[in-house]
Amino acid sequence: MNDLAIRNVLIFNGTGGDPFLGDVGIGDGRVAEVGEVGRASRVIDGLGRALAPGFIDAHTHDDGALLRYPDMWFKTNQGITTVVIGNCGFGVVGSGRSPATRSMLGLSSGFGDLEEYRESVAANPPAVNAIALVGHNSLREALVGAEERDASAAQVRAMRELVQRSMEQGACGLSTGLLYAPGKWAPWEELVTLARCVAPFGGIYASHVRDEFDRLLPSVAEAMRVGREAGVPTQISHHKAAGRANWGTVATSLGQIDRAVEAGQDVTLDAYPYTAGSGPLAQYFRDGIDLELAEVMRIASCPSFPEFEGRMLVELAVEEECCLEELVQRILDAPGADRTICLQFLADEGDIEANLRHPRVMVGSDGIPELSGSPHPRLVGTFPRVLGRYVRERGVSSLTEMVRRMTSLPADRFGLTDRGRIQPGHHADLVLFDPDTVVDAATYDEPLHPCVGVELVLVGGEAVWSGGKATAARPGRLLRFGRT
Ligand SMILES: [Zn+2]
Repeated sequence: MNDLAIRNVLIFNGTGGDPFLGDVGIGDGRVAEVGEVGRASRVIDGLGRALAPGFIDAHTHDDGALLRYPDMWFKTNQGITTVVIGNCGFGVVGSGRSPATRSMLGLSSGFGDLEEYRESVAANPPAVNAIALVGHNSLREALVGAEERDASAAQVRAMRELVQRSMEQGACGLSTGLLYAPGKWAPWEELVTLARCVAPFGGIYASHVRDEFDRLLPSVAEAMRVGREAGVPTQISHHKAAGRANWGTVATSLGQIDRAVEAGQDVTLDAYPYTAGSGPLAQYFRDGIDLELAEVMRIASCPSFPEFEGRMLVELAVEEECCLEELVQRILDAPGADRTICLQFLADEGDIEANLRHPRVMVGSDGIPELSGSPHPRLVGTFPRVLGRYVRERGVSSLTEMVRRMTSLPADRFGLTDRGRIQPGHHADLVLFDPDTVVDAATYDEPLHPCVGVELVLVGGEAVWSGGKATAARPGRLLRFGRT
């Protein structure tokens, strides 16, 4: 007998095929039966709503949030049941000796390796599952230093050993963030050498590419070249063309990727459905204050000037009766400047649609889980925004195709072997939602509004989001790549 049966649901099984009406039976935390389902101790009437595999957030910075906010409501409210952490070159591996990483990820203390982090997650389990990338910036700061310098042969060997140990401990690959220090100073050979360490495990190379502005095309080409040389699949992170002059380049970049795929390379991408990006203010102005960038920036969170939160820098400069440059400098000079997060309105709506139409693009929120202040609404709204605004209202793809790209595509990419599909034997990570109403409600001004239309979210058969609220269940774990 099943522990639970969800009856009368439109089943999107994650493979992109036609949905079908039926029941799903769950036993021991896994899907037991699909279609015609026998007796169950507990029954939920799905009222004909959609049932899909739990969504996999392909790009997050939730490494610290899993420990700080274990209910992870900002993820479960979207139907997300697994998050990929360690992105953009910043991850828990090496965080014990990387202050920049601890600050970026909101970690109160650091970790030497992935197993130490896994123990912390297990001691205080979160509602959702996670799978980790090893971050190159964190490794490099821990083993080479935060300054601009070449790694010695011994330091490269130490980085290689740590990548390898992390893969043995269940990491899913290596990430770089080549916009950021100290990763941006690494020679190309170092990136290839480290990416090669993940190849024997079947891991991936995920890259926040060097330049998303004028040099998007060569930067994406560089990431693909690292993957090709190292013999590993490549994931292009938060694919976008930043800056008005570059709008429209996303289609060209996708064409470049299509040609690499046709030539036999394995490349996938993730994207988020907003025209604003977000990140630590200090990282953008490391080489001087770029006024064009400052003009489209808004403060998300700012420990020194909480009154600036939620405001555009240009408005604040007028109010403070100073020039933009002075205002930015004042923020950068204040204590806690490295924890000041900004939003920057840089991307084009047409480019978002171009991304979301592409069959190799997954959805990754890229949310920065700093709940104080005025965070980017992508933290709370990304997945229902794609389903409501882009699939239902604008028809960028069919619902079943988008569900595939939120479930089985990332599950296959990140080595989640028994997740991402509704089929017997798979973990019962599931989301029940109303396809007619599902949509985000978080806005730039009210970024913490839960989504509409996500009715029930199960992780391992346990409800983590139900009736518009997070439950007390904490069934999440740090998963191991390619293993159940
Ligand atoms: Zn990034």
